[in-house]
Amino acid sequence: DIAMYVAKTSGKGRYEVFQGSHHASQLETERLRADLHHALDGDQLELYYQPIVRLTTGDVVGFEALLRWNHPGRGLVPPADFIPLAEESGLIVPIGRWVTREATRQAARWQRRGGPALRMSVNVSAQQFQHPGFVWDVTEALERSGLDPHLLTLEITESVLVDDAQRVAGKLRRLKELGVRLALDDFGTGYSSLSYLRRFPIDVLKIDKSFVDDLAVSPEDRAVVGAIIQLGRTLDLQVVAEGVEDDAQVRALASLSCPLGQGYRFGRPRPASEAMAGGTVAGGAVAGETVAGGTLT
Ligand code: C2E
Ligand code: MG
Ligand code: MG
Ligand code: MG
Repeated sequence: DIAMYVAKTSGKGRYEVFQGSHHASQLETERLRADLHHALDGDQLELYYQPIVRLTTGDVVGFEALLRWNHPGRGLVPPADFIPLAEESGLIVPIGRWVTREATRQAARWQRRGGPALRMSVNVSAQQFQHPGFVWDVTEALERSGLDPHLLTLEITESVLVDDAQRVAGKLRRLKELGVRLALDDFGTGYSSLSYLRRFPIDVLKIDKSFVDDLAVSPEDRAVVGAIIQLGRTLDLQVVAEGVEDDAQVRALASLSCPLGQGYRFGRPRPASEAMAGGTVAGGAVAGETVAGGTLT
């Protein structure tokens, strides 16, 4: 641990020597945390958009907004590296507010272009959800953008629901009164998921990528995914398979009658201009459908 460690700093070609890699990574984290304060003011945040497609037709039915940080020295920083820092520091509240405004504005822009309605999904972290101003922030974003509230889906994880059930239920109800839809993200990776489905007004289940990865080769994963899809059908929930990367997974999902999918197979997250540019995705059971060809149910 006392080995000398060399780290490149700020992409300026300077090198600094630290003692021990643990110390170095802590320093890196501290720098990132400090820099994050300027990310919003400095116009360094950007939303990428990834299509969600109907598996039977390949039609795009909507997009998920995924946050990117264009760090001046480091280039693109993935959310896994800075969302936890934003949560610890409370910065996730203003950042999340910006994400909601930006995503609803973009969705409204796409809506005004005409064509079939496209949904927009926005990720909400637990800290953001627990903030007293959260429902107001969503209300304001909807009003400012003019987006039809039914086209906005808020993605929460089960970690949101483990809090004081009464308070959580109250907040979810207020959100439902706005008209927005609620999705459980990374479904299957948390705990007590089934009781949550009874207790809370959830509209969409997003099957975690870890169940989709080996879907084509693992009978166990097939059984789990099949059960979630069946559950969705019974409880009248939409089901989206996350992280779909290849045709074998698409075929396996189709054989299980999974309605919706999302993943590199259909399109990577891209800046707004590119997400819609050209209007095609290499999509679905049917390839080459146009982005504007989606239909909602
Ligand atoms: P998530 O909400 O589950 O988003 C899906 C993640 O899987 C995204 O990673 C997406 O780029 C990635 N992905 C999609 N299809 C594939 C695929 O076929 N293969 C692989 N390997 N990956 C795929 P990303 O963009 O790095 O985001 C990671 C997580 O960060 C998100 O997971 C979400 O929990 C969080 N996040 C992203 N944007 C926001 C945001 O605006 N606010 C909050 N609070 N969290 C966010
Ligand atoms: Mg998500
Ligand atoms: Mg997910
Ligand atoms: Mg996630």
